[in-house]
Amino acid sequence: TGRSSMELISAAEEHSAHNYHPLPVVIASARGAWMTDVEGRRYLDMLAGYSALNFGHGHPRLIAEAHAQLNRLTLTSRAFHHEQFADFCAELAELCGMDMVLPMNTGAEAVETAVKTARKWGYRVKGVPDGRARIVVAADNFHGRTTTIVSFSTDEEARRDYGPYTPGFDIVPYGDLDALAAAVTEDTVAVLLEPIQGEAGVLVPPPGYLPGVRELTRERGVLFIADEIQSGLGRTGRTFACEHEGVVPDVYVLGKALGGGVVPVSAVVSSREVLGVFRPGEHGSTFGGNPLACAVAREVVAMLREGDHQRAAADLGDHLHRELALLVGNGVLEVRGRGLWAGVDIDPALGTGREISERLMARGVLVKDTHGSTIRLAPPLVVSKEDLDHGLDQLRAVLASQ
Ligand code: PLP
Repeated sequence: TGRSSMELISAAEEHSAHNYHPLPVVIASARGAWMTDVEGRRYLDMLAGYSALNFGHGHPRLIAEAHAQLNRLTLTSRAFHHEQFADFCAELAELCGMDMVLPMNTGAEAVETAVKTARKWGYRVKGVPDGRARIVVAADNFHGRTTTIVSFSTDEEARRDYGPYTPGFDIVPYGDLDALAAAVTEDTVAVLLEPIQGEAGVLVPPPGYLPGVRELTRERGVLFIADEIQSGLGRTGRTFACEHEGVVPDVYVLGKALGGGVVPVSAVVSSREVLGVFRPGEHGSTFGGNPLACAVAREVVAMLREGDHQRAAADLGDHLHRELALLVGNGVLEVRGRGLWAGVDIDPALGTGREISERLMARGVLVKDTHGSTIRLAPPLVVSKEDLDHGLDQLRAVLASQ
């Protein structure tokens, strides 16, 4: 367009709702782990679209599949079958070790779908009296932005002014099995959790928590729904974060990287007993499971089946966490995470997370703060070790320059 970053940012300010506060950078193109702004400056992407870009920008295999599908068929709606649908569902179900898939588009829609699934299963299969189903969730969760989902958020900013709120949710502290056990009643149909809480600052629950949740939910006849929208599909060094604890939930909720950073694709994946509750007309989405989405997601599933990205996340993640551990006491208070995913609490004396992010941006590295003085590092899994080290060098330089 020939317009400068500053011009484009003020035009955006003028004509868009201010529900975001982006870093002052305007990206024009990207490949792999690198982005280029409208002035031609290059930045290392250490956010990866909140893990939607696990395979990097413009992955050749995903772009090739997208192009091929664009030239054949993009949309049918679910009123008709299309050529890609059956294979997408079968291949994704197989990757998850499950039977059935219900495709949607965004993460929040998939979480809503999981909530509806659990309630319907509760009434039809478990035998909960009509209108009484309850779902247990964790404090500090992030599951999306719909009115029902913000109803069970504990983040005032996310909730304020959006009532009346949807009832039927019980909130317990994350990582506390006793509190969870106490919250489950005869009317409880599901426990909905992130196996690692992403937006809360990459919080890894104590060892034994997820297996404990698995055991409790099995004993009490309650579905265990794992929201792996951010933690899943390679980020932690495994296909699913639950695998680190040897846990298989009843329901996976997937999104973000499932669309390869090309199209929005989300899904609920579960057993026949659970997803078999739906009858025609009881749920749906115009775009859910569309041909373009299915073509790209099938290639994502194929790449995950090969395992190279999980291995890269595990190996580079070990390196990342070794290096970050050395910063604790040197400008960093605490580091959490698994694989290529880290929440880094910066000493507040050195600045807010936003200020640290802006200083990193000035050094050509893009990250995003979460709460307070926490920044989150989640580069694409295709990042090279040299580039990752470059990003770490810039972080060290920012911490040292105070
Ligand atoms: N669930 C989790 C764990 C997430 O991290 C997110 C997004 O950050 C969502 C759900 C919502 O996904 P979306 O923004 O695609 O609606």
